[in-house]
Amino acid sequence: MISKKQSNYHNKNKNIIRKNILLWYDKFGRHNLPWKNKSIYHIWISEIMLQQTQVNTVIPYYTRFIKEIPTLKKLIDSKLDDIMALWSGLGFYRRAINIHKTCLIIKNKHFGKFPTTYDEIIKLPGIGRTTASAILTFSGNGVNSILDGNVKRFIQRLYSLMNEKEDKDALNQLWFLSENLLSKTRPSDFIQAYMDLGALVCKKTNPKCESCPVRNYCITRMNNSNLSMSLKSTRKKIKHKKLWTLMLVDSTNNRLYLEKISYMNLWKGLYSSPLFSEKLELDKWLLENNLENLASQDIWQFNHKLSHIEFLFNVRLCKINYNKKISLMKDNWYNLSDINIGIPRYQNKIIKRYIDLHD
Ligand code: SF4
Repeated sequence: MISKKQSNYHNKNKNIIRKNILLWYDKFGRHNLPWKNKSIYHIWISEIMLQQTQVNTVIPYYTRFIKEIPTLKKLIDSKLDDIMALWSGLGFYRRAINIHKTCLIIKNKHFGKFPTTYDEIIKLPGIGRTTASAILTFSGNGVNSILDGNVKRFIQRLYSLMNEKEDKDALNQLWFLSENLLSKTRPSDFIQAYMDLGALVCKKTNPKCESCPVRNYCITRMNNSNLSMSLKSTRKKIKHKKLWTLMLVDSTNNRLYLEKISYMNLWKGLYSSPLFSEKLELDKWLLENNLENLASQDIWQFNHKLSHIEFLFNVRLCKINYNKKISLMKDNWYNLSDINIGIPRYQNKIIKRYIDLHD
């Protein structure tokens, strides 16, 4: 909880802190982001992509997405598969599913127009307080502050609140500080400055305090506290999981068999070689499809790491000459050299290795 002393300190210094942040932003901020000064539709797509993903990773995906689907109207008319294909490789695919759900709501409830009030935006799928505020403020429809991971860390360090218990009251205090610092005359620049400062200067590890515009007001720096303290609490424990997959290739026609993932939340809606959590399930599937004699006994293993989980993939290859006697759905075969549907990154690794070995 913020103490009276910290509160007085904040009130006394907030104007100069705000001014220094904006001066720093004018000189060093990221002014050329492709979604800057664009329509609310562009800003919405960029803000959803930026959830849990860094700017440099997002830029090529955003550019491709907007090139393919330049307007909200076109997005409303798009199928989920089209959106998933453009999202393929970006991760956290629930975001793409939420974009599709949002389109239905916009079509049915908002007459095809993206809403422009906080109360309406916050109700849309996959949108929390920070995303709603960023969409409103960047599009010039509101003066709302944000509290994403970067801003939270910056404010916690600025006011030496790293060791606070992260309960609802503590979070409300951080929101209060974030909103209280916000420039009411340049809100859009200010929230971008918040994001840039957190990402470029007050970084998780090795913050660049010597380049920080508020270094003379940062209580953590003044106390010379251990800046890595906040890291310990945020470091996630990585889980490990084994998965089995069967790469099924129609070698005569250079085609790959892919199924829509319907049960694993991580990749739900994308297309993959048949995926199993147990080796026994894979064997059973081969048996049911009369393919047990065609599948290779060799197993190729590789690790696939996400932010919170590391998978060990076990891949078996099964080459067939597809014919009418084989009961696998004929629509599930895709040209190996031109996969035009959404696939997870692990599937790309499997395809790349196959092509490298068989070219
Ligand atoms: Fe972060 Fe250092 Fe700036 Fe303090 S002085 S806000 S720790 S970068």
